[in-house]
Parts: sequence; structure tokens; C-alpha cells
Amino acid sequence: MLVAVVFAVAGCETSTSGSPVAPATSPPAVTTAPATTTAAPTTAATTSPPKTTTTIPVAGNGHGQVIVLDPGHNGANASHPAEINALVPSGRGQTKACNTTGTSTNAGYTEHAFTWDVANRVRAELIAHGYQVVMTRNDDTGVGPCVNQRAAIGNQANAAAVVSIHGDGSDVAGTHGFHVEYSSPPLNSEQGPPSIALATALRDSGRAAGFTTANYIGSNGLFGRSDLGGLNLSDRPTALIECGNMRDASDAAVMSSPDGRQRIADFIAAAIMTYLKA
Ligand code: ZN
Repeated sequence: MLVAVVFAVAGCETSTSGSPVAPATSPPAVTTAPATTTAAPTTAATTSPPKTTTTIPVAGNGHGQVIVLDPGHNGANASHPAEINALVPSGRGQTKACNTTGTSTNAGYTEHAFTWDVANRVRAELIAHGYQVVMTRNDDTGVGPCVNQRAAIGNQANAAAVVSIHGDGSDVAGTHGFHVEYSSPPLNSEQGPPSIALATALRDSGRAAGFTTANYIGSNGLFGRSDLGGLNLSDRPTALIECGNMRDASDAAVMSSPDGRQRIADFIAAAIMTYLKA
């Protein structure tokens, strides 16, 4: 029972502003894909085009493998409830809101800003090591993309690994720490051992960097779940990291500081590279 109660307040993808409404009527824009990627399919919900960024590897030993980084939420989600509350397929025969606003620290530092900053730090490290990086959004001022579009970007990029970056928002006193989520039970082979290995690499890398795993959700820093569209709809090795509880004072202090975000990005990048070389 405790898990169910905590989950209801903690899942940063589970909260939305307003109630679901019909999708907007204007057609979704189609993004012209870079050479090595293709645009995500359009869906009923209208959001910012799922832009992709492709970077030519410059150094290191990544051999140009494509990594997809998915910074959770987006800066204009809160002001576009119609778009983000539109229901989209979320896997397992279910539907879910296109996207959510995400959480924030008690001081008002938003999850979308946090995920955008951390993702860019991870991106820079991966590029420096010779990987190509595709982002599911290209700025922190747009709407969406929807969770199904985010999954499609990873699939169409044939990503070697997909990492969604989030911050959690549990208001239960004393809850803190990071955890890593993966699709469970798996819906395809990549959601099985490859995704669990990626999640485990992230968990281990975070611990090695001195971060504490969550004391309120999951088990031993890992949490297999069946209700997240971005995980359910992926056919690539995929994990979602909740980097900490933004409502907890100590976690918030780390997540709000550039130094803390760099330390988080460092262990995420290291985990991705460890996973790919394993
Ligand atoms: Zn989130």
C-alpha cells in the first residue's frame, strides 16, 4: 500500500494540469530529418515538431553509435494544456496524456529546465567520445513532443541506447535519492536484458559517483514499471532515470546547482559508455 500511495505522488509523468481535452486541430508539422535519422511519425496530438539533432563524431571511440537523449517535459507544456493533455497511445493497449508539465523544487526550479541542462551536458560528453547524439527536443521553450513521439525518435534513430532524464517530485517527507526505471514486463527483446543492463549501469554509475539510490520507490535503485509510454513503445535499449527528488531539500540543492548537474551528467554519460562497451 505504501508503494501505491507514494507512486501516486512521485511519478513525475503522472501529473498533468487540467483535464484531458480533444487534440488540437492544426496538423502537426513534419520535421525534415537529418541524414542519419528520420522524422517521428505524426500523431493526433499537435506539439512542437520532434526535432532531432545529429552530430558528426569528432573524437574518441564511440564509432558514431547513435545515442538518443530524452530530456523530460518541455518549457511551454504548462501553458499548452490542450496539447499536452491530448491522449496518445502509451503501449499495452492504453492511452496516456501526450506529455506533462513535470515537477519543480520548492524554490521553483523546474524539472524541464533541469532535464534540458543535464541532457546537454551528457550530450557534450558523448560527442567528445565519438558518439552521435539525437535529442528528442531541441530547446526548452516548446511543447511536447508526446511520449509516443519521443519513443519513435529513439526507434527510428536505431539508437544503441535511449536514456530519458527526469527529476521526481515526491512530497513525502524524507524521501530522496535517484532511481532508474525500465519497461516491465518487457514487450520486446530490447526491453528485456538490454534495457535492464542499461538501467543497472546507470544505477551503478550513480552510486559510484556518490549518489544515493531512492529510499521511497523501486528496489535497490531500480524500478520496472508497465505504465510509461516512452518505455513501453521503445524497441531500443531504454531506461529512464529520475535523478533525484526535487521536493527534497538535499536533492534539490544538488539538482539546482550547475556543479551538481555536471556530476549527474558525468555519471549518466559514463553509464551509457560502460553499457555500450560491455
Ligand atoms: Zn518527469
